[in-house]
Amino acid sequence: MNPFRYECASDALGVIALLSQASTGTFIAGGTNLVDHVKLAERRPDLLVDSARLPDDQIEPLPEGGVRIGAQVRTADLAGDRTIRARYPVLMQALLEDASGQLRNVATVGSNLLRRTRCIYFQDVSKPCNKRDPGSSCAAREGDHRELAILGTSTTCSATNPSDMAVALAALDALVRTLGPAGERTIPLTDLHRLPGHEPERDTVLAHGEMITAVDLPPLDVAGRSRYRKVRDGASDTPAFVSVAAALDVADGVVREARIALGGVAPRPWRAWKAEAALRRMPATEESFCQAADSELADAQPLPGNAFKVPLARNLIVRCLLDLLETPEEAER
Ligand SMILES: Cc1cc2nc3c(=O)[nH]c(=O)nc-3n(C[C@H](O)[C@H](O)[C@H](O)COP(=O)(O)OP(=O)(O)OC[C@H]3O[C@@H](n4cnc5c(N)ncnc54)[C@H](O)[C@@H]3O)c2cc1C
Ligand code: SF4
Repeated sequence: MNPFRYECASDALGVIALLSQASTGTFIAGGTNLVDHVKLAERRPDLLVDSARLPDDQIEPLPEGGVRIGAQVRTADLAGDRTIRARYPVLMQALLEDASGQLRNVATVGSNLLRRTRCIYFQDVSKPCNKRDPGSSCAAREGDHRELAILGTSTTCSATNPSDMAVALAALDALVRTLGPAGERTIPLTDLHRLPGHEPERDTVLAHGEMITAVDLPPLDVAGRSRYRKVRDGASDTPAFVSVAAALDVADGVVREARIALGGVAPRPWRAWKAEAALRRMPATEESFCQAADSELADAQPLPGNAFKVPLARNLIVRCLLDLLETPEEAER
């Protein structure tokens, strides 16, 4: 392991100043993801800045009716927040599918968004991996495809994004607030993570030293009837094969509004824009739900070992929407 400096900062500008002088420096929150990568020498930081003392640890109402979640809020605290449970149940459910209670007690909202892929070849430094070692090739393409993406893939990398919370936030139109050397900016959650393209080593659009400070949830009536479903290998601590975050507003048997995002199927949380458009003003029936799912998955490009994800995603979208149709709103919380 390379030697590195460790610093604590109590204000965001202090963090930015420290990182601007450290070319491979980075933030550390709970360390449950980063420390693994440092041990594997996949990351070689010259500086770790501990974010534990930063003040962004509140969940606050926004003037126009939304909610601001500080980046340092522990995911356990977010899952237990009364406002989140009542107004954004899909987010609470996704958080409870994420890892274990112990991990949620240390993981933060900012760090969970930046968790790196669980691709087994990315973790195995004896195998070539374009994300870990650009230009070395992709061991997964010749190997086990079960965990890989079916949407937004590239021949350079087909790893999936591993955050459950991010899938719910994608469905909820969340905005990510950041502070970096170039100042503040706001990024739609759906634009935070990159598709691999020719730079699979870059997971997000964030610049070096750019810190997530908060996530804003807009006021969203449809979110009151929302839910998260996840299919995985095993009972806990494993990433999704497929997950679905959905919200549905139906009046007189017709869909007024729907929000759908998918996890486990793409390099980033996948907002199902085509499925949503296909549902709008359609009868709220299983047939419409099937057609909407098919319209989203028509672009899927599975590999031989993960073709099962296409019908799995279809069935999970339909099941999630039927659940929302059949279950009273209060029972979702
Ligand atoms: C065994 C295991 C199973 C898990 N299963 C799941 C699961 O099923 N679903 C799921 O969603 N998650 C899962 N997780 C993830 C876990 O819940 C944590 O969210 C994750 O490990 C990151 O938390 P951390 O605080 O330890 O991050 P760290 O390791 O401290 O940091 C992760 C990354 O975030 C960066 N970072 C941290 N804070 C900021 C910030 N404010 N701005 C910019 N960058 C920042 C760090 O530099 C680092 O690159 C699992 C983790 C483990 C260990
Ligand atoms: S899929 Fe991506 S992360 Fe996995 S081995 Fe290939 S390049 Fe690496």
